[in-house]
Amino acid sequence: VGAFRNRSFATHFASYSRSLSTLVLAEHEGGSVKASSLSAVEAAKFLGEDNSVSLLLAGSGPSLQEAASHAASCHPSVSKVLLADSDKFTYPLAEAWAELVHVVQQRGSYSHIITGSGSFGKNILPRAAALLDVSPITDVIEITGSHLFVRPIYAGNALSTVRYTGSDPCMMTVRSTSFPLGAVSARSESNTAVIDKVDLSTFSEDYGVGKSKYIGLSSQDTERPDLGNARIVITGGRALKSAENFKMIEKLAEKLGAAVGATRAAVDAGFVPNELQVGQTGKIVAPELYMAFGVSGAIQHLAGMRDSKVIVAVNKDADAPIFQVWSNHTSLLSFSLSSLIQQDHQRLCEYDCSPTQDSLELQVADYGLVGDLFEIIPELLEKLPEK
Ligand code: FAD
Repeated sequence: VGAFRNRSFATHFASYSRSLSTLVLAEHEGGSVKASSLSAVEAAKFLGEDNSVSLLLAGSGPSLQEAASHAASCHPSVSKVLLADSDKFTYPLAEAWAELVHVVQQRGSYSHIITGSGSFGKNILPRAAALLDVSPITDVIEITGSHLFVRPIYAGNALSTVRYTGSDPCMMTVRSTSFPLGAVSARSESNTAVIDKVDLSTFSEDYGVGKSKYIGLSSQDTERPDLGNARIVITGGRALKSAENFKMIEKLAEKLGAAVGATRAAVDAGFVPNELQVGQTGKIVAPELYMAFGVSGAIQHLAGMRDSKVIVAVNKDADAPIFQVWSNHTSLLSFSLSSLIQQDHQRLCEYDCSPTQDSLELQVADYGLVGDLFEIIPELLEKLPEK
């Protein structure tokens, strides 16, 4: 961004490419493209018609080949799969990926580069954008034109409409909860996307050497649905008091086929690992049903779950914020929006900020139960039928 600011004003308004072509940076696991990357493909559809979408996959070994076959057939919008097969990409380190994006963009001159807003995308995109000397846009929740995007600010209490006026490529991370996959029709075997190997001869080995290294991966060995995409999420807060008690939440989730979430207070207290944290600094979820037990409803937590379709809260304090209306939180808007706009004009994006419509009138919880979770959860466990 520093380099970007030093460039002359005229170059900031470089022309947009006439035709649309999008590169989606895709994450894969166990031989399949992750759902959040497919949501990024969905998002690309909103950029405009005749958008040619390529998927960039990197890794090494048989799982990459499997993921490539999956990528070629998983979404009708993908016309090409670019495969970077090298032990440089065995682990998704941001430095290697950023240089890869740089190499691929130099050859492909894409108008847009998109990835999901998870830790994969948030790690890689800013580095790649710095290498390409453009200013990235993060956490896009709506695309209303090829260069017009909506993104939440102030922990979701206001939405800003951003017009990208920089040069190509326009780079962004998108929230997968805002671009659900829906019913994506599978492709027939004869109608799969082309798979091309990325020529890595110009890949610079020097970029970012030694800046980070892969130590290991620890993830929960669980059959529960992925928190980011689950239809039901059961969340526990500090009120659970211990890791042992938190198992009640896990049991309930098991009965309902749900994912488990937690507040930051519960994570900080060591009840559960931080990959379960929901909120501004955790995961963003938008399930059909969100059940919160012993969660106060702090603004930073609401930022991660407010788009859930139905919210149920159990809290022994009838005055807990989770039982109140959004208007309690709109005071944050007293920040000077005009100074924000001025600041962002210097970054060559135009912002139009407005409080979110529903923030003024909607209740946080659709259903609220004032009571002690240590009585209510055992009762629910007893009365709910086995899965
Ligand atoms: P508390 O606020 O302590 O609430 C516990 C609730 O449980 C209370 O409402 C109480 O009435 C109720 N309760 C107690 N006993 C019982 C019982 N027996 N039965 C029923 N109810 C009971 N938080 C997040 O969750 N996610 C984030 O991503 C996040 N990011 C943050 C980022 C920043 C920069 C900051 C400053 C904070 C962030 N926080 C985040 C922390 C957030 O501000 C709150 O501190 C946190 O969400 C509170 O968690 P809690 O609701 O579990 O705990």
